[in-house]
Amino acid sequence: MAKSLHQFVLDTLRSPLLDEINFQFGHLRVYPQGLRRDVARLVAHRHIEVTSDPARVYGPGARVDGGCFVVDTPRGQRHPLFVNPRWTFDRGGHPYVRPLSEYERAELRGTIVHEATHALHDYQRLGRVRPTAAEGAAYMAGAIARRLFGPRPAPAIQNPRLNGITYSLHLADRYLAADRHSRYVIPSQDVVELERRVSAGSENRYIFNGI
Ligand SMILES: [Zn+2]
Repeated sequence: MAKSLHQFVLDTLRSPLLDEINFQFGHLRVYPQGLRRDVARLVAHRHIEVTSDPARVYGPGARVDGGCFVVDTPRGQRHPLFVNPRWTFDRGGHPYVRPLSEYERAELRGTIVHEATHALHDYQRLGRVRPTAAEGAAYMAGAIARRLFGPRPAPAIQNPRLNGITYSLHLADRYLAADRHSRYVIPSQDVVELERRVSAGSENRYIFNGI
């Protein structure tokens, strides 16, 4: 049965699988309680509004690919967590998740965890964060989630250095294969290499001042 996007996001964030997402990327931290408890609660209470309406985020007529979490929302307004409408259909004015393959579902859950990581850093009130650092941490968390939810064994990454997605999946595979105690700090060389490959939006969208 089709599930509302709101419920799908909550189910993703509350999944016990996210207990594996616990790392430090440069000076940024991503940890299970932040996603499973804090960001999930913000979604449940609709301080974060799950949407797949591009006009809600980018204005009328906008074309977008990928997802987005809007950090720079005016005070008192909800922060949109935008999921690309290619994943959804409309039912009674609300987005529902369309039927997806196992692989697609894992990709969507990875996107949700990516955007939730931006929300977590906003919740932490980190202030101004270097855009590539914010994106690197979110790519890393999203890639781990994609692997956790995805089919096993995961398809091997042929060319890790191709782009931010392939490099983050490559790091996620290594992270998940490693011992929990030795993998916490992402090696600085990997941080540099991933940051080099991520795409970041305009500078002024990376001021994490609270939700
Ligand atoms: Zn991002």
